Amino acid sequence: MVYGLSKGVNVLKEIVVIGGGLAGLVSAILLNRNGLEVTLIEKKTYPFHRVCGEYISNEVRPFLESHQLLPDHIETSKITQFEFTSIKGKSLSLPLDLGGFGISRYVLDEHLASIAKQEGVDVREKTTVSDAVFHEDSFTLKLNNGEEIEAKIVIGAYGKNANLDKSLKRSFTSKRAPFIGVKRHIKTDFPIDKIALHNFENGYCGISAIESDKYNLCYLGSRADLRQYGNLEAMEAATVKRNPHLKDIFENSEMIFEKPEVINEFTFAPKTAVENHILMAGDSAGLITPLCGNGMALAIHAAKIVSECILDHYKKGSLDRDTLEKKYSNQWQQLFAKRLWVGRQTQKLFGSKITSELTVSLMQNSKFIAKAIMKQTHGQPFD
Ligand SMILES: Cc1cc2nc3c(=O)[nH]c(=O)nc-3n(C[C@H](O)[C@H](O)[C@H](O)COP(=O)(O)OP(=O)(O)OC[C@H]3O[C@@H](n4cnc5c(N)ncnc54)[C@H](O)[C@@H]3O)c2cc1C
Repeated sequence: MVYGLSKGVNVLKEIVVIGGGLAGLVSAILLNRNGLEVTLIEKKTYPFHRVCGEYISNEVRPFLESHQLLPDHIETSKITQFEFTSIKGKSLSLPLDLGGFGISRYVLDEHLASIAKQEGVDVREKTTVSDAVFHEDSFTLKLNNGEEIEAKIVIGAYGKNANLDKSLKRSFTSKRAPFIGVKRHIKTDFPIDKIALHNFENGYCGISAIESDKYNLCYLGSRADLRQYGNLEAMEAATVKRNPHLKDIFENSEMIFEKPEVINEFTFAPKTAVENHILMAGDSAGLITPLCGNGMALAIHAAKIVSECILDHYKKGSLDRDTLEKKYSNQWQQLFAKRLWVGRQTQKLFGSKITSELTVSLMQNSKFIAKAIMKQTHGQPFD
């Protein structure tokens, strides 16, 4: 089936992006800048906090700078050093090859959302897409306010959302989702140029600087542990704070949030980049394990390639959906599938006392292994 370009002419939307995190906002901005009509639907209202370690790999810095997507009024922290500790606190330090920077999602997403709005993207906040049905050659999106929207192309950038995945009957939704993510912003005494990843039983916790002398303290833990201990405080006392580095951070820092941000029901299981004709970008296409520290970079990079694939087809004066889907899916696989796989295998090495101690000892003796893992899970800088 072939479409013509029809910016702003009919009620059938050209492009609808579901979800306004990094993948959604960046793809909406890029497509809008290239003359396409874009509607972005976000279930929350900006600005808001979300669970994320907020360390961004430098692989996306040239892209963000060349597209003027970084806020210039904020001084982001530059992170060049990495420390890694076992459950018992055995430590390994090494420089980061690529490095990265820290900025809160509260600031970054709000900045991107305001660019999108100013440049003409139709951003609908506080609106949730509850289902997306493809029929003949377009989509009907059902919104929580009872409205229905018709769209030619839909980008699924709704992150780790379990509800929409269930409505779309995605195969991985039948698998267990045994994780929780917990984030705090803190004030503490910690090197500004370092990111540390501290293991604890059934999880790991990262700490690194963000803007305004604040630090992000974010961990991936186990839902089963939370159930077993009854609440976060009890679970943290029994597991997280058993790592002496984390005990020190938790006991000697000022917690800025009244309550931590918490998410659950997400999975690292493989997903597909195109599902039910929706072009998935960011975590909806696949969530890389947080220890790799580059889920945000992947989301931004996926936004770039999904936008380029769409624009490429429009440039030809028509849209051939089959070719578009195959092209995007192939590019996604080539760029990201191996990185996600290595991330999943690496995560299996931590979380249990024996493997965590062994892995850190092994890496202490051969930093080559740690560097090789970093290389396999990170991409090259692009603009
Ligand atoms: C514990 C933890 C720590 C992490 N630490 C890091 C790190 O330090 N560095 C890093 O690079 N990555 C990290 N990540 C990964 C990173 O947070 C994600 O990969 C990244 O946020 C993905 O961006 P996204 O745009 O795909 O999704 P999100 O940023 O999750 O955005 C999705 C958006 O869609 C909206 N939405 C969801 N459902 C709907 C719906 N039905 N209708 C409308 N809107 C909807 C949501 O409200 C949200 O705003 C971490 C992840 C976890 C779990």
